Amino acid sequence: MMVFSDRLKVIEERIAQVCLRSGRNRADIALMGVSKFHGIDRIAEAWESGIRLFGESRVQEAEEKFPGFKPAHTGVELHMIGSLQRNKAKTAASLFDCIQSVDRESIIGELGKHAVERQTPLKVLLELHTGEESKAGFPDEEGLLRAAELVLTFPALVPAGLMTMAPYSGDPELIRGSFRALVRAQQKLEREFPDSDWSCLSMGMSNDFEIAIEEGSTLLRIGTSLFGER
Ligand SMILES: *Cc1c(COP(=O)(O)O)cnc(C)c1O
Repeated sequence: MMVFSDRLKVIEERIAQVCLRSGRNRADIALMGVSKFHGIDRIAEAWESGIRLFGESRVQEAEEKFPGFKPAHTGVELHMIGSLQRNKAKTAASLFDCIQSVDRESIIGELGKHAVERQTPLKVLLELHTGEESKAGFPDEEGLLRAAELVLTFPALVPAGLMTMAPYSGDPELIRGSFRALVRAQQKLEREFPDSDWSCLSMGMSNDFEIAIEEGSTLLRIGTSLFGER
């Protein structure tokens, strides 16, 4: 049976190969373990193997797992990657280090309001809809620019970059097009808001992370290939 460290080794080898052929530096790419639907024992196993960044897609589930785990594991970083409901914004703003799935203006207001209770500003990524079937994300660059402007009005929020989910497809060029749209949006934001940090490009999952690295990803969100089937 494959244990976590075996799977991690396979993934690291694949990452290293893409980096080599595409001229990327492994150190510029963060590897998130997407731990949704996996219990704290599996999360501890991932930690033992060296994973420090975790992603969860539901506030309630993260709330059951991480408040105990985090204080005992200094250096753990927890990101929200699933659609965030308004009534969960307060909990999310205190539990997570970063909300990657900021996908509409109303949630920015909620997070901005509740994040003032934090000791450090809450990092946010703006999610761009680039073709994935669920409709999550701002629909276009114009929507992103307005969202960025709004984020910058809240002192307790700090932008860190962009996130997208490519369509689940067997067509690599369709996936590539999705990631390129995110890079274009990043360039636009960097021009419009040069004093802010837009450097994080969260793109690439189990089925498409190699293409994502080729297109400039700085944060891979890997669930199934690291933890096994959910
Ligand atoms: C579940 C999930 C992932 C991980 O997907 P895998 O295909 O299991 O690697 C990545 N990003 C988001 C937003 C997810 O919901």
